[in-house]
Amino acid sequence: MTVSPQPILATPLTELRGVGSERAAQLARLKLFTLADLLWHRPRRYEDRRHTRDIAQLAVGEAATVRGKVVALGLKRFRRGAKSVFELILDDGTARLHCRWWNLPFMQNYFRQADDVFVYGKPHSLKPRTIDHPETEVVESGEDSSIHINRIAPIYRLTEGLPQRWLRGFLWQALAQCEDQVGEPWPGDLLPDLPARGAALRQIHFPNELHQIEQARTRLALDEFIELQLAMQRRRQNLQAHAKAFPCRGDNRLIKPFLARLGFPLTGAQTRVLRELRHDLGGEFPMRRLLQGDVGSGKTAVAACSALMALESGFAVALMAPTAILAEQHYQNFNAWLAPLGVPVELHTGHRKTRKGRQAEAEMEIQPGLPGAGKTPSPPSLVIGTHALIESGVDLEKLGLVIIDEQHKFGVAQREQLVRKGRYPHLLVMTATPIPRTLGLTLYGDLDISVIDALPPGRGTVKTFVRTPEKLPKVWEFLRQKLSEGRQAYVVYPRVEDSAAGSVKAVTRELERLGAQVAPYRVGLLHGRLRAEAKEAVMIAFRRCEIHVLLATSIIEVGVDVPNATILLVENAEQFGLAQLHQLRGRIGRGGHDSFCILVADVKTPEARQRLRVLEETNDGFRIAEADLELRGPGDLLGQDQSGLPALRFGNLAEDGKLVERARALARQMLSSSRGQAAK
Ligand code: ADP
Ligand code: MG
Repeated sequence: MTVSPQPILATPLTELRGVGSERAAQLARLKLFTLADLLWHRPRRYEDRRHTRDIAQLAVGEAATVRGKVVALGLKRFRRGAKSVFELILDDGTARLHCRWWNLPFMQNYFRQADDVFVYGKPHSLKPRTIDHPETEVVESGEDSSIHINRIAPIYRLTEGLPQRWLRGFLWQALAQCEDQVGEPWPGDLLPDLPARGAALRQIHFPNELHQIEQARTRLALDEFIELQLAMQRRRQNLQAHAKAFPCRGDNRLIKPFLARLGFPLTGAQTRVLRELRHDLGGEFPMRRLLQGDVGSGKTAVAACSALMALESGFAVALMAPTAILAEQHYQNFNAWLAPLGVPVELHTGHRKTRKGRQAEAEMEIQPGLPGAGKTPSPPSLVIGTHALIESGVDLEKLGLVIIDEQHKFGVAQREQLVRKGRYPHLLVMTATPIPRTLGLTLYGDLDISVIDALPPGRGTVKTFVRTPEKLPKVWEFLRQKLSEGRQAYVVYPRVEDSAAGSVKAVTRELERLGAQVAPYRVGLLHGRLRAEAKEAVMIAFRRCEIHVLLATSIIEVGVDVPNATILLVENAEQFGLAQLHQLRGRIGRGGHDSFCILVADVKTPEARQRLRVLEETNDGFRIAEADLELRGPGDLLGQDQSGLPALRFGNLAEDGKLVERARALARQMLSSSRGQAAK
């Protein structure tokens, strides 16, 4: 679909005038190798050098660009030469400005008396007017003023030894060479309201007017979003064109007795979602569905029902969880639910392989849960595991359904890998991270979406409080009170995961401190660096109420379900994202007792306080996720590296909702018209 990239864009930068091996090496450090890399290198900011501010007009704390002549400069050393300050005094006819660089003595090599200099920075005082560590650019005599001076000048991210001026000059050259030849990536006149691609590239680097910057950014961002949407929609189209689904709608033979013994009726929301799932599972194409439901909304029971549909139909099911703890917990639950129905449930994690169920162990070894294979057909099984499941030798031949719990911990690549392994099984992805729509369309645009939008009834309330560390004694007292009433608590302590050598000591100290605070109640420790067996043992003891307080890292963030635990105390809460705290809070409020979430945070600034207040005000995961997306960006919302987020240069997932929608519609339009073409 994409018009083939213009060959000129692949030209290596060494073809540019002035790029020798040294410059090429510098550019390579910025990952700039070809003309395309250079042209899509986004300016970090702009300076409007047509109207620089008078030095006399500078205000404290307000960033501005000024231009003046160097009237004095010098380096002062003190502390026997160990420290230094280089100072430069600039005069523009209205006033003088002092620029200072601390402990960067080599700065003196860059300036000379009477140099004409642009300075950008925030004054921190006006008596005398001073900017520390400003960004500067010396105007070279005889320089082409139309590139660097009397215009809105782009300012780029640089690397050592590469001056702003040079990079800007290379861009100017590159644009002159290929502005007219970059072509349009999409067929037809798809974006009539926006600049053409060549013009957008010129305007993003050398705008004539400030408003052109946003116009150009919009155009280039839209290109990125369209590309993503096309890839996603093509994937979906391929699947529908080539994959036949296994018939997995089931016959209620197992679900009926399962629901009868479950102990609670499904909520309306759960039932509605199950209808959607059944429709897909019986459909013509393999299901690709995302199930969103806030923490505690009961996704596990829905997963069990959908698994049973596939199992009833004679197909095996794989359930993947992001952590071994969660896989273990699912194993406990599903085994208790399904073994009585004669369904074998297996657990595959890094350290443990179990197979239970009513079938004889020996028979199971020969017939790993595949129906119809061999003489005594064993029933299809449910296999539960972590991502180790992907690599393990689990025979996925007759795999009808794959369920991925807490998707946001898996990258998109992993999702694809898992699904490709079987022959097009149905796929159900579950997440408790309420994903704002823009992100959802970008990450899961190839999935249909179901939402469990109501919590099961009969839950106690969850109250949330933000407290400063000085209030800790009161908090401990409150905690002891609740423990004496028979409840349990999580205490989350971020530093446990530190890889620093001192951290083990710190944890041990923390454990002792906590133990002393809550004696005679017992404290257990859970963190990611424990061995799997140790983690398992702690969780079992906590579930059995042999341990009353669990000191943990954010490892308990996903899925852990112990209804008697009603207190969540998070220390250093300011170090967590809102969505993450909301997930942590999802560990409580799971039983009939009222629950309490206490966020102990050293909030020094009003903004930090305001941020945590969102959690006091609402339990609505969507509102919290939106707030988090705005405040911290998508990487933080989804969990840094594993988020599967595409690298966007111009698009902004927190703000470009409208563009994402538009890109989606355009991609659809393009694919359907290309299909029309192909049919002719
Ligand atoms: P999550 O959506 O966060 O994975 P879970 O599936 O762990 O939530 O469910 C949270 C708790 O709610 C569990 O203890 C589960 O047994 C209970 N639960 C689920 N569905 C219902 C329901 N319809 N009525 C009452 N309790 C339910
Ligand atoms: Mg869950």
